[in-house]
Amino acid sequence: MIVNERIRDYICSLERSRGVLDEIEKEAREAGVPIIKKETAAFLETMTAAANPSAILEVGTAVGYSALLMSRIMPKACEITTIETDRDRIQKAAENLKKAGESRIHLMEGDAGKVLAALEGPYDLIFMDAAKGQYIHWLPDILRVLAPGGILLSDNVLQDGRIVESRFAVERRDRTIHARIREYLFTLTHHPELTSSIVPVGDGVAVSVKKRERQK
Ligand code: SAH
Ligand code: MG
Repeated sequence: MIVNERIRDYICSLERSRGVLDEIEKEAREAGVPIIKKETAAFLETMTAAANPSAILEVGTAVGYSALLMSRIMPKACEITTIETDRDRIQKAAENLKKAGESRIHLMEGDAGKVLAALEGPYDLIFMDAAKGQYIHWLPDILRVLAPGGILLSDNVLQDGRIVESRFAVERRDRTIHARIREYLFTLTHHPELTSSIVPVGDGVAVSVKKRERQK
């Protein structure tokens, strides 16, 4: 946990019911699927409302929970493309979409690196929530398909707070991911095409907006 527990609990106490999505969320948490944190859900919904997107891209579908959250907020004509490598999760996601009666979410099975290279975009909102160590490698394709003025949200960038530790304080097996996320955050915050902020909500979300032509 990154922020004070009482603050987190208070924020969560303001949550309201999301109907069938609550069942999908509960089932996913009980099955140990790493869906977004409770307090990140409202943040994702709010960013979806602000983006007013025509097309959304998600990297890391899991069982479709976050895609469904966005679909409830996005404009009627908007479509979501979401990528997941795990076949069982894709199947569960398809079941969940059906259960929620949602037909505007398109599941793409495969490794995100490969799928991204073949996408054209543009997407007005991109939610990155897959293998954290790969974010830095996927960034060139992500920026290629992100529309000017579009928003890129990257989840789990603070690694439950471990990101602030020196590399020697993190366990050896976590060092590569630690270094790659730090590199990713440095790149986002210093990139000439982006305006970025690291928001310590949930497990940390980086919010980046792609500059429009006139701002460059
Ligand atoms: N966004 C979901 C949670 C995603 S969990 C939600 O909040 O509801 C991260 C998912 O990314 C996992 O299901 C994992 O299988 C998937 N993933 C990891 N590496 C991937 C890759 N290289 N390509 C596609 N999906 C990947
Ligand atoms: Mg996440």
